[in-house]
Amino acid sequence: MVDETALFPMVAGMSNWSRRFGFLGLVAAAWLAGVPSTAAADGGTRAVRVEAAACPEHAAWAAAAETLANEWYPRLGNLLASDIAVELPRVRIRIDPAYRGVAAASGAEIRIAADWVKEHPEDARGVVIHELVHVVQAYPENREGWITEGIADYLRCAVFEGRPLREFPRPSGESPYRDGYKPAAGFLFWLESTRAPGTVRRLNAALRNGTYGTNTFREIAGAESTDLWRAYCEALERPQQSLPPDPRRFFHDSQGGGEFAILSEGLWVERQQGREVWRFREVARSGESIELLDEARPMRLRLTAGEVQWFRDGLWTPLYSGRWTAAPGRNPGSEP
Ligand SMILES: [Zn+2]
Repeated sequence: MVDETALFPMVAGMSNWSRRFGFLGLVAAAWLAGVPSTAAADGGTRAVRVEAAACPEHAAWAAAAETLANEWYPRLGNLLASDIAVELPRVRIRIDPAYRGVAAASGAEIRIAADWVKEHPEDARGVVIHELVHVVQAYPENREGWITEGIADYLRCAVFEGRPLREFPRPSGESPYRDGYKPAAGFLFWLESTRAPGTVRRLNAALRNGTYGTNTFREIAGAESTDLWRAYCEALERPQQSLPPDPRRFFHDSQGGGEFAILSEGLWVERQQGREVWRFREVARSGESIELLDEARPMRLRLTAGEVQWFRDGLWTPLYSGRWTAAPGRNPGSEP
């Protein structure tokens, strides 16, 4: 993968080489081209070597990057584990004064532009992670470049750098995620954390074992990518509504009217038409929601500012809409 400008989204094209021989061919070619011999020079103890031979002024950066890369390479391998076992090859990262792009991975050989290290040393650490993801991915062919680059930036920006979802760019247009990189990374991050957990792992497995087809994305994420992108943008644009200061009763008008009310700390009751029907244990609470669990059924609900949501098939689905309020005629002495 050639990432000419890591800060500005673009989809990298495949080289003729990788088209003819596939990714694994490139890995093999890089290996045969001398990686073992250089790795063997220091006893071959480190899986990733970062070389700054051509630019000694970056020796300290290279040493720090090598430590970082050796910590993260096996982690990235685990994050992208699939039923097809991938042996992580030894990786050689060269800081290259002649390279005019930002960075590129070709099999297990990674080049990073010396100018980029000089001008953006912190970003260059993220670039190392991004390129290592490409080595780990080991996709035999690259038909879905946006997913390949999206996963690389998801692991870089969301997992390695720990950026919050709101920081990921959401360009306008029908399907800007198809340009890969950070817009696709944010999209995958949102799918992973809300609508369809497991999406990244499953996309990775499908691309790695060559089963990715026309319907794969929909099967994994539960809907067409364009529809999900729209839902993602809407969800992020909607202001996050906070719960009221002391949320104790939530009313709704469905099924003849009902309510959720706190009985005692950690214990909630659901009433329909004034009659108790279920009890729930409070298992989590934030400024935006309260999560309730009835272990016996089991049934997991979430009370938000204006909705009761039901956790079903891996998604939070609206169940009732309603409002928080003090009960009319509530007797403060009769309830905690
Ligand atoms: Zn890339």
